[in-house]
Amino acid sequence: MTRDDRAAWQVLCQDRFQAGVPLSRYTAIRTGGPAKWLLDARDESEIASALGLARRLGIPTLMMGCGSNLLISDHGFDGLVVRLGPGFNRMTAAGLCVRAQAGATLKAVACFAADRNLSGLSFAAGIPGSLGGACYMNAGAFGGEMAQTITFLDCLDPEGRRLTVTVGQAAFGYRHSRMMEEGLIVLGAELRLQPGHKEELYRQMREYQACRLEKQPLTYPSAGSFFKRPAGLFAGKLIEEAGLKGLTVGKAQVSGKHAGFLINLGGATTADFLALKSEVQRRVMAASGVMLEPEVRIIPEEAGK
Ligand SMILES: Cc1cc2nc3c(=O)[nH]c(=O)nc-3n(C[C@H](O)[C@H](O)[C@H](O)COP(=O)(O)OP(=O)(O)OC[C@H]3O[C@@H](n4cnc5c(N)ncnc54)[C@H](O)[C@@H]3O)c2cc1C
Repeated sequence: MTRDDRAAWQVLCQDRFQAGVPLSRYTAIRTGGPAKWLLDARDESEIASALGLARRLGIPTLMMGCGSNLLISDHGFDGLVVRLGPGFNRMTAAGLCVRAQAGATLKAVACFAADRNLSGLSFAAGIPGSLGGACYMNAGAFGGEMAQTITFLDCLDPEGRRLTVTVGQAAFGYRHSRMMEEGLIVLGAELRLQPGHKEELYRQMREYQACRLEKQPLTYPSAGSFFKRPAGLFAGKLIEEAGLKGLTVGKAQVSGKHAGFLINLGGATTADFLALKSEVQRRVMAASGVMLEPEVRIIPEEAGK
């Protein structure tokens, strides 16, 4: 850490960071205390310099996409939260490839591809995340997952240095990636798709969305399926079989419509969700011997233990 670093940080604090912004504003589950600093990044160099400085100054950082898979402590985040500002959603197509920046929503990328008769992303259209968050999580649904379409990712390492990660280097697994292991920031991705028909692709997306509306409690704030699927099993089924539909802590509840979803009845806190999560884990373990592991990213990690 140098005096220049501290001075540069002060400039960012004055000119670019917002202080004390409640993160519940940006999470799909509508909980989360304030960020000490929040940056809506304008461009890659701003992310790189803010991350590099934070690293040298020992300040924790958190990258945030659409906030659809985040459960952040009621005490907030004692560091810098970086969001991708409006300049981070450009998309281009060439042949069977689509390149998109990490801030583009999955829905926008899926529609961009469908409009060009490119197939392979219909599964993703109803996942309410950004491309960056989806690559980090290797998000998936209806038998598809991001890893099947990606050729390479443009990333930044935690020091703010640029690197290209090919699909073979990305260590994708079920809701897992190298970006998760190494704290890499996704700036954008190239996706390789197949020829398709626009009308058929939109029909498929509507069908998937109807299926979500029928099965998922989409009228309540949530982070989607709270737990990962244990090998060969379904978390929601195990929770239902343990008799936990409707189990409530404070204002957090196991959905009666889909037991895999923990929903915010209105005014829930992250503490409510963490207590509910532990109770569900305990009772499912007692009923079936399976330890459910959260899919939702709990921040800070220790809070989820
Ligand atoms: C109603 C509902 C339905 C859902 N259905 C599905 C589903 O069918 N399948 C599925 O897989 N998920 C589903 N989800 C969960 C969620 O939408 C996905 O995990 C999504 O990919 C998260 O993207 P995000 O941009 O919201 O990421 P965030 O929630 O903002 O962040 C998630 C993680 O990604 C990291 N991250 C975000 N952006 C970047 C970036 N640019 N670079 C590096 N790291 C980053 C964050 O630090 C965090 O650790 C659902 C959620 C909801 C609320």
